[in-house]
Amino acid sequence: MTYSRAGGAEGAAEPARETAGDPTAEPALEAAWAELVATARRTVADGLVVGTSGNVSVRVGDTVLVTPSGVSYDRLAPHDMTGVDLDGRQVLGTLVPTSELPMHLAVYRADPGARAVVHTHAVHATAVSLLVPELPPVHYMTAALGGPVRVAPYAAYGTDELARGMLDALAGRTGCLLRNHGTITYGASLDQAYDRTAQLEWMCRLWLTASSVPGHSPSLLTPAQLTEATERLRGYGQRG
Ligand code: 13P
Ligand code: ZN
Repeated sequence: MTYSRAGGAEGAAEPARETAGDPTAEPALEAAWAELVATARRTVADGLVVGTSGNVSVRVGDTVLVTPSGVSYDRLAPHDMTGVDLDGRQVLGTLVPTSELPMHLAVYRADPGARAVVHTHAVHATAVSLLVPELPPVHYMTAALGGPVRVAPYAAYGTDELARGMLDALAGRTGCLLRNHGTITYGASLDQAYDRTAQLEWMCRLWLTASSVPGHSPSLLTPAQLTEATERLRGYGQRG
């Protein structure tokens, strides 16, 4: 046993009650935590956040594992596993969960297919959030996020107001920008959620680069071209 249930005496390791009797539950949580920590570290290594900014979560059954608030991702160990239920009650660990629980939980409640959420302060994406209400469709990867990516209104970090604005901006999309703040994307896995963040940041960099050439404005894809890209992306990659 390498993690403690929330409320356990002084953080002492004790079995999580909901995993008792289900021999597959604990390894699944441990594997998901390891993947979550690796993903959080990747956001720093790839320059999508600085320090302890941003946060990552992954859903395993009705438990949502989350990065703890303000803890360097380098320092996260297996025994730091932090988890909440879908109402935000802490069910695993003793570290304080991310301050952005309202956003993460809002995504899981809104879309049962959501299994992972990644929030970053990626610099090009955040720059775009200061300039326009929607990222212009400069590339076919717009279709991978469900269409032109909207910008949610500014609200203080960690608030229900920010989560509400984010949900509106996410309608029909798997990612949005948060004005004067950053990005949020989700997917069926941590890899998919992370890849969507990386693609979103890349598209924001592309648009900023193209739109900074004096005397020119970037050409944009039409709705029909985006629909065609959506269909083609369904068959993208390897068979099976
Ligand atoms: P946490 O350290 O609480 O996850 O906060 C980081 C952040 O990005 C808040 O928006
Ligand atoms: Zn943030």
